[in-house]
Amino acid sequence: MFQKILIANRGEIALRVQRACREMGIKTVVVHSEADRDAKYVRLADESVCIGPAAPQQSYLYMPAIIAAAEVTDAEAIHPGYGFLSENADFAERVERSGFVFIGPRPESIRVMGDKVSAKQAMIAAGVPVVPGSEGALPDDPAYILATAERIGYPVIIKAAGGGGGRGMRVVHTEAALLSAVQMTKAEAGVAFNNPEVYMEKFLENPRHIEIQVMGDGEGQAVWLGERDCSMQRRHQKVIEEAPAPGIDRKLIAFIGERCAEACRMMKYRGAGTFEFLYENGEFYFIEMNTRIQVEHTVTECITGIDLVQEQIKVAAREPFTLRQEDIKLTGHAIECRINAEDPYTFIPSPGLISAWHTPGGPGVRLDSHVFSGYRVPPNYDSMIAKLVTFGSTRRQALARMNVALSEMVVEGIKTNIALHRDLVNDANFIEGGTTIHYLEHKLSERK
Ligand code: ADP
Repeated sequence: MFQKILIANRGEIALRVQRACREMGIKTVVVHSEADRDAKYVRLADESVCIGPAAPQQSYLYMPAIIAAAEVTDAEAIHPGYGFLSENADFAERVERSGFVFIGPRPESIRVMGDKVSAKQAMIAAGVPVVPGSEGALPDDPAYILATAERIGYPVIIKAAGGGGGRGMRVVHTEAALLSAVQMTKAEAGVAFNNPEVYMEKFLENPRHIEIQVMGDGEGQAVWLGERDCSMQRRHQKVIEEAPAPGIDRKLIAFIGERCAEACRMMKYRGAGTFEFLYENGEFYFIEMNTRIQVEHTVTECITGIDLVQEQIKVAAREPFTLRQEDIKLTGHAIECRINAEDPYTFIPSPGLISAWHTPGGPGVRLDSHVFSGYRVPPNYDSMIAKLVTFGSTRRQALARMNVALSEMVVEGIKTNIALHRDLVNDANFIEGGTTIHYLEHKLSERK
């Protein structure tokens, strides 16, 4: 096992990775920007290295500084967390070429899955159902583009092969709008993602977002660890996640989960990953794979009893793979609310000094957060300051516990979206389960 791991991230995930390391007896090196020197995980680290100013380009995205920090501290492996460099194949390659272990998939896997066209092709080969669409990237030929949309049926969505973070997509409802939409998406994708390739998919009108967690050993063994429902979204950003997904045939989920595990075996996938699907009218359609730990991994940990970050570290250290599909049992129900420093209804970020911070507790409550009373939320990064997770033997119990936990939580000095979460966990349709990816935006538009 490693003696020392460098954590190349910030915020709650830096603390989450650090907790896994400390539990395993591994020393941690934390790299941080000038804006993050007072964070809890910096104080708890065995060593910390300031790698640059607040701007991510000059710190958390600046590869030479991170690799130099690993060199001076004699770290053996680098955990990238999520966001920042976690899905950057060039970073993974540079880490390994510099003699460190990248705690994540091999660079080739990141590269194949980072290009949505090649990811879809890999999934088709593995027998995973995908959204009907163009075979590969769209060529320039207007006749071909028009015929493809005709075959798929309107509405269609034009998506950038290199897109991410909900950007680089355009929905097209009519033939008249098609060719110019393709041209515009191509031009934007070229600028934003340095890759003008686009592809076409059927636009599903009212889907749910369901994703499958996987873990592979990099040698051809892999398991799937249940699913998560992340349909409660605003602008393609997840707000609440839960596991399992309510009201979906378990046999169908098991079929899809097994296809995902098989895809991982075929590509000798290493570490944690997530296959994202849209689910509509009883069918699953693959949209993309994330080759890293995700924010919402916590709900899967609650219902499987498996520490996914520790499993990532064990696989990276080439310890024998001990996960067996037949041992993975889902028990109870877990829900996560992302607590953000923002206005609950205008969503305007609210950085600044937290003057009071009181966290909830009790049975079935988990809070992952790097903040504390007296902490100043910097304006430079993502606004998420905590993940509040509750679990219970049933969905109803998890919801009741969330309701109580949200009411116990006190944050003063900055605004948070706790009021929105309290609204949502008391919403009759959410309580019933199975709301779609448009539900939250519809609900918010009715408030206006
Ligand atoms: P990103 O990598 O930018 O997150 P995804 O491919 O995961 O892009 O898509 C993000 C979101 O866009 C999905 O969660 C869904 O809300 C919407 N979306 C993507 N493809 C489709 C589609 N074919 N039909 C309907 N909505 C879609």
